[in-house]
Amino acid sequence: MVKITWLGHSFFHIKTMSTDILIDPWLSNPLFPSGYRLDKYDVIIVTHAHGDHIGESVSLLKKNKNAKIVCIYEVGLALEKQGISSSQIIAGNIGGPIHTHISDVKVVFTPATHSSEYGVATGAIIITPDKTVYHAGDTGITADMSIYAEIYKPDIFLVPIGGHYTMDPLQAAYAVRLVKPRIAIPMHYGSFPVLYGKPEDFEKLTREIAAGTEVRILRPGETIEV
Ligand SMILES: [Zn+2]
Repeated sequence: MVKITWLGHSFFHIKTMSTDILIDPWLSNPLFPSGYRLDKYDVIIVTHAHGDHIGESVSLLKKNKNAKIVCIYEVGLALEKQGISSSQIIAGNIGGPIHTHISDVKVVFTPATHSSEYGVATGAIIITPDKTVYHAGDTGITADMSIYAEIYKPDIFLVPIGGHYTMDPLQAAYAVRLVKPRIAIPMHYGSFPVLYGKPEDFEKLTREIAAGTEVRILRPGETIEV
């Protein structure tokens, strides 16, 4: 069983039996639920070097020296320049399964059709002893999703739907069809006016295009157990 909490934009808190994982921790995003307490976090995963995804990673790593960050190689170099110890950085690259050596959590960065200030833009497949979660990062639809999904069979798919910079609800529903998860959760919408995609449209289109996957629309701060 894993608990997944949406904290606005692309920021999720994933809790396994023993490990707390934060992905794309942008604490100051407009939808971050005020009062949400981040008391425990062991692993931070960042999909790419844009401010709305790196977020407050540096201050989180400085605050908790036991936490480690999993990121793309060049993001790791940039973090070292900002004073983060190399012992806290697990830097890898797209495709190579990364063993965090923390409660057997593994991360596979996937290709994303997007840009990044440095390094490359990615999604991340997070493999825990119980469930596998695929966070698509910021991306347009891409055929790569099929092969990664075939190999790792994600249970839960976190999928951007806002459009303009990423997939819109239509592309996102097709992405669900490629990935075939049990549950899909929309993200990267509602935070800025330019992100026009609506979760209700994504849910409706997924029902038509990718029947068999359940869409769960979370409120910021809401948790589901899978
Ligand atoms: Zn973004």
